[in-house]
Amino acid sequence: MTHRITMIPGDGIGPEVTAATRVVAEATGVPIEWEVVEAGEKVMAKEGTPLPAYVLESIRKNKIAIKGPITTPIGSGFRSVNVAIRQELDLFAAVRPARAIAGEGTRYPDVDLVVVREGTEGLYSGVEHWVDRDHSAGETVNIITRKASERICRFAFDYAVSNNRRKVTAVHKANIMKVTGGLFQEVFRQVAKGYPDIPSEERLVDNMCMQLVKKPEEYDVIVTTNLFGDILSDLCAGLAGGLGVAPGAVFGKDVALFEPVHGSAPKYAGQDKADPVAEILCLEMLLRHLGYKEAAERVFRAVWETIYEKKVVTYDLALPGYTLWPTKPSKCSEVGREIARKIKEVDLDAPLKRREWTNASIATTENLVTDKVLEE
Ligand code: NAD
Repeated sequence: MTHRITMIPGDGIGPEVTAATRVVAEATGVPIEWEVVEAGEKVMAKEGTPLPAYVLESIRKNKIAIKGPITTPIGSGFRSVNVAIRQELDLFAAVRPARAIAGEGTRYPDVDLVVVREGTEGLYSGVEHWVDRDHSAGETVNIITRKASERICRFAFDYAVSNNRRKVTAVHKANIMKVTGGLFQEVFRQVAKGYPDIPSEERLVDNMCMQLVKKPEEYDVIVTTNLFGDILSDLCAGLAGGLGVAPGAVFGKDVALFEPVHGSAPKYAGQDKADPVAEILCLEMLLRHLGYKEAAERVFRAVWETIYEKKVVTYDLALPGYTLWPTKPSKCSEVGREIARKIKEVDLDAPLKRREWTNASIATTENLVTDKVLEE
């Protein structure tokens, strides 16, 4: 059966990373027919709206979509298309895995965690206004409901169960925001009681930021409200190698939309320079969602091996002091083709190889790291 899937290339680097992803999708042999629809800046000029009705109709009809990033003007201009899509389709759960791939581009080679973020309410509800005529004071309303808190906490525990994860950590600020944070905390505790086999714990968001940069390997599934989830998922993306390798997905009751954590990175648009790995790992998540376990595993391993070999990788995987750069960074399209080429040849049973960095090797520009092959 051919799967009809909505594709939104998006703005900035979006068309380049989604094009590279299509090359990889084709190499998997999974029968997919893309329904390409445009949203964002380009469409705004043509249609007077950045989110034409036919985009939402396409996603509603196909139930699965993959998108590139979409630019949101800062301060004024149109509202975020991403937020609008999530609200229109009630895509309440944003899942953002942060996993260090092959130990590259990160100071934390053991990071493997998932941020589950509530995506429809909180401080991103879009309820804000000026308090006075002079615009000298403003107010943004933080809406937290029992219903949305309950479904996101359940989603996080269900995700932990079905993905063999070891614990769920709720992140909030219930000590200061006693009403909204307190409600989220209370609901999390109630939901946790229904999952006695999954250990649960709580952290205040400020402490969590410190804990994550100190010892990220101690965390697994993190569940939190909209704004904290947005910030923590970028933080975790940074721990695992940066925005260029951070995939994500948002789930509703019937619809799933796969999108990288990164934005449209306008300064790199049209240069064939951006890392397509985040978008390609979104494809991996999409294939798993469709039930193509082997194809998904092949995509994951082809990405892993490409990054481990480091012959064809984009600029962002270099760390300060990194002296193992092969010749020069590869292009976005070259990385896509290399991953596609590897799809068929990857060995699904081979141990995943990983490079281990030491703090000393990162800190000095002259040191070469030792190559240590670890078994996963
Ligand atoms: P950004 O993620 O676009 O870029 C920040 C920096 O991260 C870039 O300058 C670049 O150095 C790096 N980067 C990001 N993606 C990369 C990739 N694939 N390969 C290599 N390097 C990469 O964040 P921003 O500059 O804050 O936002 C730019 C625009 O994107 C804004 O309009 C913002 O609203 C929008 N945005 C959209 C989404 C989305 O569509 N889901 C998400 C975040 C931001």
